[in-house]
Amino acid sequence: MRRHVMTPLLAAAMLWGCGSERAQTGAQTARDGVGKVDAALLTSGGDGHDWAMTGFNYQEQRFSPLTQINAGNVGRMGLAWFADMPDARGQEATPIVIDGKLFVTGPWSKLFAFDAVSGRKLWEYDPGVDKQKAVQACCDVVNRGVAAWKGQLFLGTLDGRLIALNAETGTPNWSVQTTDNSRPYTITGAPRVVKDMVIIGNGGAEFGVRGYVTAYDATSGAQKWRFYTVPNPTGAKDGAASDAAMAKVSPTWSKNGQWKQSGGGGTVWDSIVYDAELNQLYLGVGNGSPWNHGLRSEGQGDNLFLSSIVALKPETGEYIWHYQETPAETWDFTATQPITLATLPIGGQQRKVLMQAPKNGFFYVIDRTNGRLVNASQFVPGVNWASGYDLKTGRPNENPAARYYRTGKPFLTVPSALAAHNWQPMAFSPQTRLAYIPAQSVGAAYLNPSSPLDQRQPIGFNVGQDLGNAMYPRDAAAVKGATAGATGSLVAWDPVANKPRWKVDYPTPWNGGTMATAGNLVFQGTALGEFRAYAADSGKQLFSFPAGTGIMAGAATYMVGGKQYVAVLAGRGGALPLSIGYAIGKARDVPNRPRLLVFALDGKAALPPAPGATPAAPVPLPTETVAPQQVAQGKLLFGRYCQVCHGANAAGGGVLPNLQNSPVLADAETWKSILIDGALKDQGMVSFAKVMTPEQAQAVRHYIIDEARWARANLGNANAAGKPTAAATPAETASMKTGAR
Ligand code: CA
Repeated sequence: MRRHVMTPLLAAAMLWGCGSERAQTGAQTARDGVGKVDAALLTSGGDGHDWAMTGFNYQEQRFSPLTQINAGNVGRMGLAWFADMPDARGQEATPIVIDGKLFVTGPWSKLFAFDAVSGRKLWEYDPGVDKQKAVQACCDVVNRGVAAWKGQLFLGTLDGRLIALNAETGTPNWSVQTTDNSRPYTITGAPRVVKDMVIIGNGGAEFGVRGYVTAYDATSGAQKWRFYTVPNPTGAKDGAASDAAMAKVSPTWSKNGQWKQSGGGGTVWDSIVYDAELNQLYLGVGNGSPWNHGLRSEGQGDNLFLSSIVALKPETGEYIWHYQETPAETWDFTATQPITLATLPIGGQQRKVLMQAPKNGFFYVIDRTNGRLVNASQFVPGVNWASGYDLKTGRPNENPAARYYRTGKPFLTVPSALAAHNWQPMAFSPQTRLAYIPAQSVGAAYLNPSSPLDQRQPIGFNVGQDLGNAMYPRDAAAVKGATAGATGSLVAWDPVANKPRWKVDYPTPWNGGTMATAGNLVFQGTALGEFRAYAADSGKQLFSFPAGTGIMAGAATYMVGGKQYVAVLAGRGGALPLSIGYAIGKARDVPNRPRLLVFALDGKAALPPAPGATPAAPVPLPTETVAPQQVAQGKLLFGRYCQVCHGANAAGGGVLPNLQNSPVLADAETWKSILIDGALKDQGMVSFAKVMTPEQAQAVRHYIIDEARWARANLGNANAAGKPTAAATPAETASMKTGAR
């Protein structure tokens, strides 16, 4: 069935692979685990036997030189072992693997160590994050991985701590609180280690914080420097590395905008990349707080360094250069997405560039010697906020209609806050010279707040949008259209020619990160539950494994005892399944089984039989009368406070319970105990008493009853009720069963 032709590219790769086979002997005799991780290893990535940092090496190409598994034999790949993970929430981490030990993080910032060959769990570390912190996490209680350096592992926690652990035992050596935990800061990103310093950012711009990055001494945890990405709203100096830069960018902010209360945003929640060639550190800076530039900065100024890439001196945190991708950001267009370094032949010269495919739908190639834009091209169809870039000024040619706060009219923006490409890792192969973008098409309407409800509140998103009204209309055709329009793709992008070389389409968005190898392969999981491999040069699909659950994370590969393995975390969650409601489409029916899957050639392990695929019987809806006024009030409240986690229109996304099918809808007392008294706060569902009266909480219940009745009548029971999420059973959770080896 599968036919494989050895391309010249693959032949070259295999020849090169011989070199790494020889190097294997040396690597095995010099085995000393995480103790060996230093600047030399992280700069080169070594021979590929280790995957020593989240992006493979400092260039963060997520490209491995290993070739044992290649385009000619990947069809023989099978499951070597698997491990059930304890928390059925978003699995976003890339494992790191050093000398046969695999370290991976899960939801609630938990860290797990495995024997990378047998799958035996060596230890686990739970930092004990207060579950109530979940309400300050915009996009699930996720974690994207750890950093390793000279015998220690470094973990950022959802509640803002940076913890150094002994890699052998998993016991903490030191811990520092990197944020003011009375503010809605979170950490979900992987730390990076540069020159014996651990660099960590944070998130929280949806709620209202001021972004910054801090460097800590890897041995002692002592703070070395801090760089704020936006000016101090008080106008005071911070005594930080950013002071000189802030003095220069302050005029790009208005005198009296809401940034004075919110902190302005600009959080660095994912990509921080060290350039060992030029000795520069690059920050990917996030969106504004609130999103709405009209409210945030009175519609004035570019608001630096929002949505920018900023280069710093790693020793001191001093500013070198910046490039702002989206001036006067107003759509939650972050520049936090993965940054990849390479040298590319452009215009007859070898150019040292960085590449990024951020939320806003343009693929950027930037000269990292000076921060100048080399090229910016749309990598998904339908981008409508800007038509292109002026390469002289580096600024976008904007569509004036996209600035909804100026026109006063709503604008359906493509892409949207949910992104043309989000945090899912992007790989780059220096062999094919292609970047592999986990792309998607998801639009969203932006409009100014229409009610006091949408002003700043002590709980919930504070983004300066009409969130209360921003859900799907009661129109079956519109709902089906939105669902059909939300799609995904794997785009193999040529950054020299500025165009896609090949593309694979997916029926739903939120597919997995990518990983490329010298075996002419690209690996990617899908939202609908497959782990796939494609030929890196042609995009031909060569392998598919039924994972039984959606995959978002990026894979890693490593070699132990002469055998190459590919490891990926499987499991659903994150911003999109939480918030998008009906438009998640078929992915809503995919079970959520959090697992670490590890593959090798001729792997023979098998997953347990998939749980029953029969849809849950829709829970009978209460027969009580719901008054239109109450329903209307409940809808505004649900849209404002609930939809970002429970899905637009309370439709759920297969991660949190589907409220349209909740037995609690019929029980007003229990409903109150949850929404007002915080009965489920230890599961992350806090009390909303600060912003809702008990009567308003009942209005929310009535709205959901009404929405469920409409959905069952107009969208069909299966769509309205959704299918059960097959989370790990309590028994499995307790024992964290490890699978066959
Ligand atoms: Ca954001």
